[in-house]
Amino acid sequence: MIIDLRSDTVTKPTPAMHQAMMQAQVGDDVFGEDPSVINLENKCAALLGMEAAVFCPSGTMTNQIGVKINTQPYDEVICYKGSHIYKYEGGGVAGNSLASVRLLDGDRGRISVSEIEQNINNINDAHLPITSVVSLENTVVREAGSYYTLDQIKSISTFARSKGLKMHLDGARLFNALVETRDNAVEYGKYFDTISICLSKGLGAPVGSVLVCKKELEPKARRMRKAFGGGMRQAGFLAAAASYALDHHVERLKEDHARARVLGKTLANLAWVQSVMPVDTNIVIFSVVNTTTPEKILGQLNEHQIKALKFGAQEIRLVTHLDFTDKMLEKTVEVLTKIKA
Ligand SMILES: *Cc1c(COP(=O)(O)O)cnc(C)c1O
Repeated sequence: MIIDLRSDTVTKPTPAMHQAMMQAQVGDDVFGEDPSVINLENKCAALLGMEAAVFCPSGTMTNQIGVKINTQPYDEVICYKGSHIYKYEGGGVAGNSLASVRLLDGDRGRISVSEIEQNINNINDAHLPITSVVSLENTVVREAGSYYTLDQIKSISTFARSKGLKMHLDGARLFNALVETRDNAVEYGKYFDTISICLSKGLGAPVGSVLVCKKELEPKARRMRKAFGGGMRQAGFLAAAASYALDHHVERLKEDHARARVLGKTLANLAWVQSVMPVDTNIVIFSVVNTTTPEKILGQLNEHQIKALKFGAQEIRLVTHLDFTDKMLEKTVEVLTKIKA
């Protein structure tokens, strides 16, 4: 039994998901003729209260398209300093959008109206890039899955739009936030121009993300998907898995959160653990005391077929997901408790 806690991207399709994939009706999606892709896009748009959606191969692509169609070259994007679009997309914002980023501290990654207000450039000063979009991340991966409530998002969006700014959401794990806040997903559409959601994280689909957007942005989004090389042909097999995930794997995210909390509590009591970030959803990030190293701990976990990820000089990350069972949790707790550091 291999226990893989490196990421929630490691899940494999369940037998039922596999069956949904095998039964999918497909066509050439670049010609707009794949019924399963169309069905997924309509489902996502309706779910988030927006008019259009575009199925893409990755969350990096949906984010990059989102930033691209909300900016002009030389503009500036406001985001949290540890955000995925800035840190983990290969410099894509610079390369694809020719935009600079304005990095905010945030409260565990959640940026505030006042921080945004202080970082909007004067449009009449030619020295400064033009601030054009605010990008939020929900949940925040770098901050152990902290999340925004809809109320917080509403105030940020209302303020940003009063300043003429666009709103992008990196909602790679939006449903992890929603099962905790119980906010209504359909409300989200009101507050954003573009929303990226990942089906291949906790929801358990093998591949795929969707960019949900305003109707008038759809042609631009489809053009950029093509330009980025993301136009797929009989993608319906993947879209069927994504639809299945949305229909069957949202509520169960709660279970991942409960298991993550058990891991967090276990770690907090161990002598070789320096500190554990609050566990809000399915991500556990902790640091080890300076007499040991993440490598040493990961080595010992590996001996027990448990995989985790180094996530900083002294930090380790564990992410719970669909393929991490109670039995695996039990074993992980046992192994963590036995580690000598
Ligand atoms: C995983 C992730 C993405 C997208 O990643 P891909 O691997 O390109 O699908 C985007 N944002 C966040 C916060 C993520 O965790």
